[in-house]
Amino acid sequence: MNRFKIKGVAAALVSSALLLSACGENNAANENGGNDAAGNNNNTNTNETENNNSNMNETENNANNQEEDGLYITASFSVIADMTEQVLGDRGTVDYIVPIGEEPHEYEPVPSDFRNVSDSDVFYVNGLGLEEWLERIVDNASDTPVFTLAEGVSEIPLEGESAPDPHAWLSPKNASYYIENIVDDLSERDPDGEDIYRENADAYLEEINELDAWIEEKVDAVPEEHRTIVVSENAFKYFGEDYGFETEGIWEINSHEEGTSGQINRLIDVIQDKEIPAVFVETTVDKRYMETVAENAGVEIAGEVYTDAVGQEGSGAETYLEMLRHNAEVLTDGLSGN
Ligand SMILES: [Zn+2]
Repeated sequence: MNRFKIKGVAAALVSSALLLSACGENNAANENGGNDAAGNNNNTNTNETENNNSNMNETENNANNQEEDGLYITASFSVIADMTEQVLGDRGTVDYIVPIGEEPHEYEPVPSDFRNVSDSDVFYVNGLGLEEWLERIVDNASDTPVFTLAEGVSEIPLEGESAPDPHAWLSPKNASYYIENIVDDLSERDPDGEDIYRENADAYLEEINELDAWIEEKVDAVPEEHRTIVVSENAFKYFGEDYGFETEGIWEINSHEEGTSGQINRLIDVIQDKEIPAVFVETTVDKRYMETVAENAGVEIAGEVYTDAVGQEGSGAETYLEMLRHNAEVLTDGLSGN
């Protein structure tokens, strides 16, 4: 499956060993790789190249990649970075801003983020209001074009608001909008690669369609009266609409007030009224709120799902497709009441 290493560009602390090993892997993975510094790193760290953390701060290396390895693209967060990488293939490098494990709504950009976006050919964002910090990046890296991947998605509004919910990627049925937008933009920036981007995208879309069919099958096994997804942030609206689930959260979106006693008590009532058999936690949200809900409502936390980031290395959910598969499995098994 692997191809280029995606590197988060905003990790706060990186040990020099990890940084060196990342340079080594990067160099090894790039056909055209090889500046002197990266070559040296590769020589001295070959035994560590497998053992790599994906959150790296590699500003200097990025600048080199941009010159030597085709397109250099920064994405706002890990999910769309993976989609981009699948289409881009070996014609460039993809980085992302928000580290895995952090949520992308209220992220605070650090100086290296501004530099990385400035060094990029294009900055890919989800849009639909996800990146609340976008303006700060754009103001400080004004020459880099910003391209919105969720363009064209049929928007679902936040509860009680006209603003859209941004979590369109959580339904694979929306992925084709993201993929086609990526193909269009890459082909425009790098016309020589157009056929390759189309080919990569078609293969990827086929995998996404297979996953979609598999999810439909999994959903069939969930009793209709159990088809409500309860998570901390009510982020599964697009998934819910496409696969026939109602959705609930303690709070509506991470950028609002989170985890008040009013929110928690409301959700406990909903779970008991609707006799919802299980609830779920997210990898990017503090789990203590849902633990309080579950305990007081007398239900189990049936598993952990990925919403605002892919999984860490070794999680088995390091890619967009893997995270969707994991989510569908955890949600449908948890609600099947077996
Ligand atoms: Zn979110």
